Amino acid sequence: MSTIKKVVESGYCVGCGACAYATKSKMTINKYGEYEPEIIKKGLESFNADSNVEKVCPFLSPDLNENVLAEEFLDGKDNFSSKIGFYNNVLAGHVNESEFRKNGTSGGTGTWIGAELLKLGYIDGVIHVKKNKRLAFGDPFYKYAISNTLKEIQDGAKTKYHVVEVSEVLELVKDRPGKYLFIGVPCLVKAIRRIQLVDPVIKESLPFLVSLVCGHFKSINWTLSLGWAKGIHPKDLSEFQYRTKGDNIPARKYVFRAQNEKETIQEDSSKVTGGKFNQGALMLSACNFCDDVVGETADLTIGDAWLPQFEADDNGTNLLIVRNKILQNIFEVARSEGRMTLVDITEKDAIDSQSGGFRQRREGLSYRLSKKQSKGEWYPEKRIQPNQFSVSMLRKMIYTNRAEVSDLTRASFLEAIESDNYNIYKNTVDTKIKKLMKLELSSIFFKALNNKISRKIQKYRRKASNV
Ligand SMILES: Cc1cc2nc3c(=O)[nH]c(=O)nc-3n(C[C@H](O)[C@H](O)[C@H](O)COP(=O)(O)OP(=O)(O)OC[C@H]3O[C@@H](n4cnc5c(N)ncnc54)[C@H](O)[C@@H]3O)c2cc1C
Ligand code: SF4
Ligand code: SF4
Repeated sequence: MSTIKKVVESGYCVGCGACAYATKSKMTINKYGEYEPEIIKKGLESFNADSNVEKVCPFLSPDLNENVLAEEFLDGKDNFSSKIGFYNNVLAGHVNESEFRKNGTSGGTGTWIGAELLKLGYIDGVIHVKKNKRLAFGDPFYKYAISNTLKEIQDGAKTKYHVVEVSEVLELVKDRPGKYLFIGVPCLVKAIRRIQLVDPVIKESLPFLVSLVCGHFKSINWTLSLGWAKGIHPKDLSEFQYRTKGDNIPARKYVFRAQNEKETIQEDSSKVTGGKFNQGALMLSACNFCDDVVGETADLTIGDAWLPQFEADDNGTNLLIVRNKILQNIFEVARSEGRMTLVDITEKDAIDSQSGGFRQRREGLSYRLSKKQSKGEWYPEKRIQPNQFSVSMLRKMIYTNRAEVSDLTRASFLEAIESDNYNIYKNTVDTKIKKLMKLELSSIFFKALNNKISRKIQKYRRKASNV
């Protein structure tokens, strides 16, 4: 069996499209609302046999891991951290000029940086994720596209918790020569870096890569499930927005907007079945085997600065990890001119702002890999090793239950669609998620208790040493 086939059939494929680009084949969408390479069905031998297909897949070729790619491509490597990779500086802040922050999901830097690079003449356009004209049920709501004007760039603002693939847009780049900023989640940026190793046109055309911090990818079915929970049938859902800003909407609340021909509904995701992002409903199973939280191979990482000093601001605040000297200078100029509000934060702040992501993808990953190892199942080689961390029984139960939520939601949503009965999904999933919530609450309780005991011990030691 080819290793690409093994990646797909063992549930490690994130649907990035790098293998499709390398073999000049296509990506298709399966009944679970996930991308999968057509080479699996048609057979690798039907396509370009000399391709670098195994080199570009982010779940293969462990010798080309994130550290190696970062060494190769980045010019801002003054510091190194095992969690956020190489970096020159770490910032938190937001855009002040124009409507970037208001229209963005967080501080608006994700859109602003493309607009600024275009204005300064560094690029001809931005490759990012925009609304897709859906022609059939099952078509994606969002896809990669190229924006060449400020207006087009601004139209692509906002986070899409929705799978995307790169093969189509990379072919487009070949027809539209120029310099582009590429924006993607860490595994897609890693895939682009791998492609750049073997494809001089893509290397030349994409001088800047930006990564969004990534919790995990959701299948297209997650989008359908949120709309259906509020009475919009999957067949009627026409538009979707994942996070909405507005009066009395805290930054931490993920309020979605779902639209059909007649109405637009707005709801807090955490109030509907499978809507609380981190519980893992309709998450890709590949994301359970990923150790890059912040996109360590990108010139710039953009996320939410989930830190107490910024969370209170409902308008959104970005976390920025800068690994490129040109971008570093652009931020310094914007800060000095007051066009951005930026504060220097520490590496620890950056890690703390994504603590849940790092727990799930470092400690949790080491546990999930150990389970694969003990069952004798094949798994992709990661920078994290099986059993690298000692994991408490309670945390193990949380990781196992989260993965079970993903599997269960994947199967039961399909059953609900095929039976045209939302309650099949709701009833199965609600019970499972209740159990996961109890475990998570216990974990929060024990963590708080632990912290309290540690503080008391420290206080006692300080007193004793003063005596
Ligand atoms: C799947 C996913 C998971 C995420 N998980 C986390 C997390 O755990 N922690 C965290 O801090 N941040 C996470 N983010 C990033 C966060 O939601 C914001 O996107 C980020 O803070 C940028 O906000 P902004 O206001 O600066 O960007 P905006 O001004 O809103 O611009 C966002 C830019 O990103 C592009 N974009 C949006 N969605 C995608 C996508 N799926 N793929 C490629 N490009 C896209 C848009 O087209 C736009 O150009 C995640 C994003 C995604 C897509
Ligand atoms: S992860 Fe990407 S490159 Fe690997 S098999 Fe899936 S689509 Fe292909
Ligand atoms: S969690 Fe990892 S594998 Fe999944 S979408 Fe994010 S970067 Fe890719």
